[in-house]
Amino acid sequence: MAHQFDFIVIGGGSGGVAAARRAAAHGARTALIEKGRIGGTCVNVGCVPKKIMWNAAQVAERLRDAADYGFEVERGDFAWGRVKTARDAYLRRLNAIYDRNLETAGVRVFNGHGTLSGLGAVRVNGRSLTADHVLVCTGGYPMLPDLPGAEAGITSDGFFELERRPDRALIVGAGYIATELAGVLNALGCGVTMLLRRQQLLRGFDATLRETVMDEMRDAGIELRTGVRLAKVERGNGLVHAQSESGERFSGFDCLLWAIGRAPRSAGLGLATAGVETDARGCVETDEYQNTTAPGVYAVGDVTGRVQLTPVAIAAGRRLADRLFGGRERARLDYDNVPSVVFSHPPIGSVGLTEEQAVQRYGRDAVHVYRGSFTNLYYAMTRRKPRTVVKLVTVGDDERVAGCHVAGDAADEMIQGFAVAVGMGARKADFDDTVAIHPTAAEELVTL
Ligand code: FAD
Ligand code: NDP
Repeated sequence: MAHQFDFIVIGGGSGGVAAARRAAAHGARTALIEKGRIGGTCVNVGCVPKKIMWNAAQVAERLRDAADYGFEVERGDFAWGRVKTARDAYLRRLNAIYDRNLETAGVRVFNGHGTLSGLGAVRVNGRSLTADHVLVCTGGYPMLPDLPGAEAGITSDGFFELERRPDRALIVGAGYIATELAGVLNALGCGVTMLLRRQQLLRGFDATLRETVMDEMRDAGIELRTGVRLAKVERGNGLVHAQSESGERFSGFDCLLWAIGRAPRSAGLGLATAGVETDARGCVETDEYQNTTAPGVYAVGDVTGRVQLTPVAIAAGRRLADRLFGGRERARLDYDNVPSVVFSHPPIGSVGLTEEQAVQRYGRDAVHVYRGSFTNLYYAMTRRKPRTVVKLVTVGDDERVAGCHVAGDAADEMIQGFAVAVGMGARKADFDDTVAIHPTAAEELVTL
């Protein structure tokens, strides 16, 4: 006999857990199916363990500066294995908290692989579940390139399994993950070479930030090689060697990390059986209300191929639950002005349009750019002097702030508040009217 629910969620990651809990809070009989560890990518192999490693890298940098601030500390080796053990234990505690929260909310959790077997019908572990509403939020997975020897490398999933710090890492990619993990490894004492197939890191971010981060990463000792496309990879003497299409060799790395993007986890889900269409990349197609092409089937998060960020999956999932079960018929996520941080070295924070996007949308004459570049007061005392760069992009005669961008220490914590202002339609004059907080880096944005 089929188990009857109001809402079935396939995938217990950021989007799925949020949607399930919100639906249950509205009184919907809710089932959640998860085949791996609850919490999905973010908790297990994404944001959380990454941020812990980024924090470790921050500590390493502070230790490096310690003597400049009068502390004679012996730095010693970084105990990678000890941090990994403690990190894994923390993640297991988080898994348990997620499980408990779902139980408390009244969500019925099934551990297994869920597949759609028709409209409103889902199978898991040989059981049939039915519901009027089914949410697909199965996330994605890191891609490997189609190259001979590619399996000699690891992806971000493998990075979190490493038991010891690599000595020399070759990182292929130029996006969030490549940039973040390159900074982490470098700060923790690993030699890092990055291979970019184009000329710059972090496509999609404002050019000023991209240039700043590249300069700072080079200054910090990372070798950035641009315009390199690999042709093959080989393993020899326990090390990895790669060769580019032009014949250049990159030899002697004990870690090759592929960070070339993530693909949607949409295969093997029975999507076609239910009439759910995917695009050429395999992403589930959704409209502005997260409806798929099949009635009663919805999708949120990475599997949709839209802004791949945890808070986006959560917000889309909650709004969907509010719309279906909370009486908020127009609830939907607005994908404009989503703030984002790259935990690079230095971090960057960004919300709204880049200068290039603003010019494209409004024309050069309508766009004004305000830019500041300075050395954070913290570095007045230190030998290393990374720069901080701030930038506002305004549009129109009333100078609405359409974009706010920061690269530098504390950018990660700074941008959330500015995102509120940008979302509310703040003008440059509103920024100017705001009294500065001194001495901070953030004050530079209201004194430009
Ligand atoms: P996921 O969290 O991936 O969850 C999908 C779940 O579905 C998984 O648990 C999977 O096991 C399950 N599943 C799949 N198929 C089935 C099936 N058939 N049956 C049952 N279960 C199934 N975002 C940020 O905002 N900030 C960050 O700092 C950040 N850092 C990141 C660092 C890394 C290294 C990575 C890889 C990602 C990072 N992200 C970050 C992105 C963020 O993790 C994702 O955007 C987010 O997890 C997407 O949530 P989701 O619910 O769509 O999918
Ligand atoms: P991204 O989409 O950010 O970047 C993928 C990169 O891979 C691009 O720079 C692209 O280069 C490059 N690339 C693609 N194919 C190849 C290839 N064959 N050879 C060499 N380079 C290639 O993906 P990530 O894997 O870094 O991260 C996935 C997503 O996870 C991110 O988009 C982000 O949404 C999320 N994330 C968020 C974080 C955060 O919020 N801080 C942190 C980590 C991940 P090119 O630019 O030249 O096309």
